[in-house]
Amino acid sequence: MIIEPRTRGFICLTAHPTGCEQNVVDQIAYVKSKGTINGAKKVLVIGSSTGFGLASRISSAFGSDAATIGVFFDKPSTVGRTGSAGYYNTAAFEKHAHEAGLYAKSINGDAFSNEIKRKTLDMIKEDLGQIDLVIYSLASPVRTHPVSGTRYKSVLKPIGSVFSNKTVDFHTGNVTEISINPAEGDDIANTVAVMGGEDWKMWMDALKSENLLSEGANTVAYSYIGPSLTEAVYRKGTIGAAKDDLEATAFTISDDLKAIGGKAYVSVNKALVTQASSAIPVIPLYISLLYKIMKEKGIHEGCIEQIQRLYSERLFNGKEMLLDENGRIRIDDWEMRDDVQTEVAKLWKIASTENLSDIGDLEGYSNDFFNLFGFKVNGVDYDADVNEMVEIPSEN
Ligand code: NAD
Repeated sequence: MIIEPRTRGFICLTAHPTGCEQNVVDQIAYVKSKGTINGAKKVLVIGSSTGFGLASRISSAFGSDAATIGVFFDKPSTVGRTGSAGYYNTAAFEKHAHEAGLYAKSINGDAFSNEIKRKTLDMIKEDLGQIDLVIYSLASPVRTHPVSGTRYKSVLKPIGSVFSNKTVDFHTGNVTEISINPAEGDDIANTVAVMGGEDWKMWMDALKSENLLSEGANTVAYSYIGPSLTEAVYRKGTIGAAKDDLEATAFTISDDLKAIGGKAYVSVNKALVTQASSAIPVIPLYISLLYKIMKEKGIHEGCIEQIQRLYSERLFNGKEMLLDENGRIRIDDWEMRDDVQTEVAKLWKIASTENLSDIGDLEGYSNDFFNLFGFKVNGVDYDADVNEMVEIPSEN
């Protein structure tokens, strides 16, 4: 069939298998071009199918010849209906990993559930014995608690007072003023339940209790801070409360891992267009200004550049880990540079529908958004007939 993008707000309902494969191929080529990383050899990535998790899986496999198990939650294709991008990405990743002689298996299901944890632990036991590195890269709007059965929904709201600021509809370039009401009731607790650290710790406890972590095994979860411009809706909002909880959990997990000489890290990553970040109001406008400035300065990075740098210059560079005053790895260092933030803040003040395509990188934002779903990818013939039915090799 011929597959075209069908968008609804910040969601795209279709995905292109050839475009998704090309994205994976491009990321593999980037990692290979940077040379070998002396990294972990047996890696579990939780949230492995898109964004930072996919980049982590690719960096481990093609930078360090690692065996990888990926856990993700995506929609397979059915006749006449495309699968989700993460499904096609995973199929492409496995195909290329297997061609390169690398072990790669994937588990599609709810990582928050006991069932998927059990399945993963059994796979590790049977195939790899132990894991050296666990990447925790989930971004989800909901979580069903595995013990209580309660279904929590996260919200993206400020805390304390109404937040009003500019935002952009990145499809039309329309810059408008939005007001977001503050969190109420259980909003904060619910968001922490979904995106905080409890599930990360549950994974690490389960792995440790069944002796599935090797001596010196580490784990890394991803966080975000961002500038004062987005603070009210991000870092000091409900999602920020969840990130505070995630970051605090790293210390608890590190204590638990002491016995095996391992450690839990949080890496603060750069703001990037992913399915998760397009859903957050105000962030798309910030990102389109940020992209413009960072591209002009020659310091723009996507997920794969970020994670390749995290691996080669922080996690596996053989030196003492560079951490901030709160014990976090900072690969948002270029985003947060004073010169970058001063210029973004200046542009923010004047950004409008009329000037955004000049002063911001709206086109870059929009392209990245479509790329997430395999559209507008260089080198792909979108007029060619494509088979929507793709299978993930390890699932058969
Ligand atoms: P993403 O939406 O691209 O990826 C999320 C992944 O989680 C996908 O593989 C998806 O399948 C998986 N997932 C979601 N719910 C699941 C479930 N119930 N069970 C199993 N898998 C599930 O998101 P992303 O932007 O790469 O975010 C990953 C992490 O990085 C998040 O913690 C996010 O806060 C953080 N981060 C993002 C940015 C950014 O700008 N995008 C910046 C810094 C940090």
